[in-house]
Amino acid sequence: MGIYDYREYIANEEACRELLREIRWPDGVECPKCREKKIWRLGEANNFKYKCSQCKYKFTETSGTIFEKTRTPISKWVLAIGLFKVGISANQLKDEIKVTYKVAWQMINKIRTAIKGDPVTNKLFGCVEVDETYYGGRRKGKRGRGASGKQPVVGIIQRNGAVRTIAVPNVKSSTLQRIIRQNVKKGSIIYTDSW
Ligand SMILES: [Zn+2]
Repeated sequence: MGIYDYREYIANEEACRELLREIRWPDGVECPKCREKKIWRLGEANNFKYKCSQCKYKFTETSGTIFEKTRTPISKWVLAIGLFKVGISANQLKDEIKVTYKVAWQMINKIRTAIKGDPVTNKLFGCVEVDETYYGGRRKGKRGRGASGKQPVVGIIQRNGAVRTIAVPNVKSSTLQRIIRQNVKKGSIIYTDSW
């Protein structure tokens, strides 16, 4: 998305949330906690928009992203990310999106940190290493997957960046592939010896 494309979004908070939804959940809204796809929509009066039918977690488009709990409109965040990508200082940003210097400075720092993963989808990207381990020690060299009775964990490490560990029910390659789809941006180079 180039800066020019942002014109559709900067005036329209709901369009920004829709953009977040589309990027975050291209196959429909999904529970951020348990990945359940059967989601209830909550009424307008509620602070939350969705409720998971499985774990009952209530959430919005911004839950678990850098936009969570922000008092700055999402439209300003969307524009700030665009301006950040082309290079902007906190001092310039405060004038461009009409926020205080302090807020602009905090936004830039949050974006800079988040950009190690994708700020919107929260996915890792670039060179990503995927490693399967078990709590209580690395599995390396041991055969018979899951036989130890320990909770398997998948570690996803972005080169020079974020690390993410995810508990998984098993380490079948279909499970690992699903975890990767959910956590790693398309087109990334994935290093693994797990399958
Ligand atoms: Zn859930």
